[in-house]
Amino acid sequence: MWDMGTPISFATAERQDGNGSTEGDMSEYNDYPVRELVESAEEVISENLRKGVACHVFFKATCPWCGARPMFQEPNTVYPRMECSECGKEFDFVKGNYMVVMSNDGELLREMLEREERIDRERERERDRERNRKGNGGG
Ligand SMILES: [Zn+2]
Repeated sequence: MWDMGTPISFATAERQDGNGSTEGDMSEYNDYPVRELVESAEEVISENLRKGVACHVFFKATCPWCGARPMFQEPNTVYPRMECSECGKEFDFVKGNYMVVMSNDGELLREMLEREERIDRERERERDRERNRKGNGGG
């Protein structure tokens, strides 16, 4: 079911905040607001990259219709809406959790590093654009 073409070792490191609750009842899942999740996932990815380890995160949520835990198929990607893999219904992705998938693949690592660089460059370009717009006040 995981068709990614690269050998991947699964190391699930689900974020949990200490109260040691057992999963089972859907209200017991540790779900976090999307913004918080994304920030935390980005941190995990950069931290691992600094250590020379490539990893992906897959975001998941609790389906409000059937209580399943569907996951976005694309790594490192969040959409505003999620389709439940169990019941097929859609719902707003407002909170959830993520799974970290480690990989020893050197090529993937390089890709991830390039991706980080690209994001940095894009951010810089955006900042430049902002600056230019402000500079052209025209008086
Ligand atoms: Zn469902």
